[in-house]
Amino acid sequence: MSEHANLLRRHRAVMPSWMALNYQDPIEIVGGKGNRVTDAEGDTYLDFFTGILTNMIGYDVPEVREAVERQLATGVVHTSTAYLLRGQIELAEKIARLSGIPDAKVFFANSGTEANETALLLAAYARRSDQVLAMRQSYHGRSFGATGITGNRAWTNLSYSPLNVHFLHGADRHLPQFAGMSDEAYADACVQDLRHVLATATGGDVAALIAEPIQGVGGFTMPPDGLFAAYKEVLDEAGILFISDEVQTAWGRTGQGFWGIDNHGVTPDMMTFAKGLGNGFAVGGVVARGDLMDALHAVGISTFGGNPISMAAANATLDYVLDHDLQANAARQGATIIGGLKEAAARFPVVKDVRGKGLMFAVELADPETGEPSPPLAAALMEAARERGLLVGKGGLYGNVVRMAPPLTLTAAEALEGLGILIASLESVTADAGAKAATGKTA
Ligand code: PMP
Repeated sequence: MSEHANLLRRHRAVMPSWMALNYQDPIEIVGGKGNRVTDAEGDTYLDFFTGILTNMIGYDVPEVREAVERQLATGVVHTSTAYLLRGQIELAEKIARLSGIPDAKVFFANSGTEANETALLLAAYARRSDQVLAMRQSYHGRSFGATGITGNRAWTNLSYSPLNVHFLHGADRHLPQFAGMSDEAYADACVQDLRHVLATATGGDVAALIAEPIQGVGGFTMPPDGLFAAYKEVLDEAGILFISDEVQTAWGRTGQGFWGIDNHGVTPDMMTFAKGLGNGFAVGGVVARGDLMDALHAVGISTFGGNPISMAAANATLDYVLDHDLQANAARQGATIIGGLKEAAARFPVVKDVRGKGLMFAVELADPETGEPSPPLAAALMEAARERGLLVGKGGLYGNVVRMAPPLTLTAAEALEGLGILIASLESVTADAGAKAATGKTA
């Protein structure tokens, strides 16, 4: 058995079945530089996956490496959050300022899951309620509480939620009654749904609504423009808090706003973040109105969240994003790729939709004969792109969406290179699907 096959066997033996690996022949990444990674076989790939947004500014960034090395050289990896940690305070000040939330305070955790748990805890304490609203098709993490607010059945088919959760329409347009509706009419229908749920399915004392501005795991599904502004009016009337889960959409990723929710012109009461902020180092957190943050009357904790190593990485990463105006870069490179994919889509009957904002974009695949979601076509597109040297991700309710989130440092040449590979891959998948249809096999 080869070394690679043996590693795969060991993975299957000791890792949970839901830690699924991408590709028929999974990849072991052993190196990274700029926006490319190298696998154990020595193959190099342009990375449009980045662990879905983990390496926000690419690999082996000197500014991040040096900041972490400086912290390591002090001899302190972490002691306790019961001491003053300069890196935490500096990062919290930056995030509070950038958030636009009045009197904002910040708590640092280790992951997005933990960040969302904290936000729910704060909302429940502040509002003295365990009732929460969440979105259909959403994903918020893998803990007990976070799976409870996750509306994607792949994660909730056996969820025993510690919270009393109601799921809203908003990003899920699959139902026939929404077909063909304008964005405006759909947003109106969603607001009516919210009012109806509040009036008929809750005790009226709901703590919060949590939502992703663009649903990540859900396949980069985009709620209609203006939806969250319309929701917010209803929530404000009822005193319900609004939590924006920015784990995928923060830091200028969508190009048009620094936070995903900026695309809707809404300032939430809390935002949760994680992933790319540490450029690979574990970090997550909540930024919230000070009164909400302080609603939790606890004696005090020392946590691993916000440890000096993660803070060094996160401060360096955030400074890099701001100093290089990577939000503008996301808008520029995203426009090239999304525009190019939309233009090419008409040539490919397997493409049902191309969508996205900035450097967060997706191709949805459907069987050209039946129009049904096609996970095999998405898998085939991933394989075809890999063969051509491009890593991409997968998502969507049915696993039929290829979603991509390259580093915000993507260059214009790399954007064109990735676009070219995607179009060539679509050509090959379309040709294969046509050949299968001709021989009577389904795509
Ligand atoms: N929220 C969203 C929107 C996410 O996409 C994810 C992770 N994919 C999480 C929360 C959970 O973050 P983590 O995996 O860091 O716990």
